[in-house]
Amino acid sequence: MAINEQDIQAIVRGVLQGMQTGAGATPEKKLLGIFENIEDAIAAAKKAQKEIQPMPLEFREKIIANIRKKTLENAQLFAELGVKETKMGNVGHKILKHQLVAEKTPGTEDLSTMAWSGDRGLTLVEQGPFGVIGAVTPSTNPTETVICNSIGMLAAGNAVVFAPHPAAKNVSNLAIDMINRASVEVGGPENLAVAVANPTMEVSETIFTHKDINLLVATGGPGVVTKVLSSGKRALGAGAGNPPVLVDETANIPKAAEDIVNGCTFDNNLPCIAEKEVVAVDQIADELIFYMKQTGCYYASDEEIAKLVETVFNVKDGKRILNRDCVGRSAKVLLEKIGVSVGNEIRCIIFEGQKEHPLISEELMMPILGIVRVKDVDEGIETAVWLEHGNRHSAHMHSTNVNNLTRYGRALDTAIFVKNGPSYAALGFGGEGYPTFTICSRTGEGLTSAKTFTKSRRCVMCDALCIR
Ligand code: NAD
Repeated sequence: MAINEQDIQAIVRGVLQGMQTGAGATPEKKLLGIFENIEDAIAAAKKAQKEIQPMPLEFREKIIANIRKKTLENAQLFAELGVKETKMGNVGHKILKHQLVAEKTPGTEDLSTMAWSGDRGLTLVEQGPFGVIGAVTPSTNPTETVICNSIGMLAAGNAVVFAPHPAAKNVSNLAIDMINRASVEVGGPENLAVAVANPTMEVSETIFTHKDINLLVATGGPGVVTKVLSSGKRALGAGAGNPPVLVDETANIPKAAEDIVNGCTFDNNLPCIAEKEVVAVDQIADELIFYMKQTGCYYASDEEIAKLVETVFNVKDGKRILNRDCVGRSAKVLLEKIGVSVGNEIRCIIFEGQKEHPLISEELMMPILGIVRVKDVDEGIETAVWLEHGNRHSAHMHSTNVNNLTRYGRALDTAIFVKNGPSYAALGFGGEGYPTFTICSRTGEGLTSAKTFTKSRRCVMCDALCIR
């Protein structure tokens, strides 16, 4: 069923009426933290940050605990609204992503102190807040990013002004409302997270240049990351990737096939870390394709692939650009668009091609996996480096040869490198470690958490407090 902007706003209003995030909320009540004017939003965030900073860390944790609780209670709602509004992704997987954010995003325990003590006294280096952060969020993981950013930024003592993707503004603003309700409910300030009702490029420009914004964090494609990095402010850039997965002759092939398809199809390939193409050593390539077909892959013919190229790209000024009507759609829907009807068991489209093929070399964010056959692991590493385009974002490999794994890891030089598992293991899903949906590939911080949103502050006591 086609759903338009008015429908989404009506749903959000209806949701607010009965929503678990805001007991007693009525449709007349506005969303907490959502303003008409960006100047008012920034001023409100600045005031809230001044209130939160002197409060005990324990109090920040109390607010965060309530954000976690509400996120769990509303995971399904956010997942459903996110898919409805953006028309991208998969409700079941989005529920899992919200649960992951609620349960495993680090809080204040992520902050640490360094100390020196000696004859001349005691010196501490503490991680303090920046103040008010301007955060741009994507359409691909909209509420997941808003909630995860909010927990980390608040744990570090900041308030945040969001610039959500316009195509996900309603659901993103609902998540911002939930953050503020979680704070108010336990006695904290309103407006720890804010945004405007109608985010536009002009609104983002104001955030990027505003005197009261102390740090910028951009999660999105190359355009927005370049923009914040040229703003003159300190900025963190979580940009695009095109993660290759290399399979060598020593890998457990049936398991590699299953892990790759599971990782690639998670939320219809929307996560930036997800497997976007396969590089397979010739000796095992046919076996890998056999097992990929066993686990829900449709092997497309040359003619079907040519139709897919026509469908998933639009051409503008002689340049190929992604057709937004294909991003984050399921394999079944993509195949329907080229006149191929398949059952629900089909979750991924595969084909063999050269590395330069547009469905292989470009970041699609669709469950389409091109397979590049190479003669050996050396050629495989070289091919994967080419395919990653120097984003230094994510790369994955299936192998039991530690030398091959080491050489691949060094050559790719990415923020994320998953070995022998699906890509989402990097987010703490079936792997160790914490999740985030803001992976600072361009600026090098890697997987962000509370400590990423702090500045270093040295505090020196002269000639005292050393008790050694
Ligand atoms: P997008 O670049 O279209 O939009 C991201 C955000 O940037 C949106 O809020 C958008 O409004 C804003 N924006 C875009 N161009 C802008 C400009 N010139 N000035 C100001 N704001 C601008 O991305 P999307 O389609 O929502 O998300 C997908 C892209 O983001 C992919 O390339 C993906 O790899 C990347 N991504 C990266 C990470 C990461 O952690 N590294 C996480 C999620 C998504």
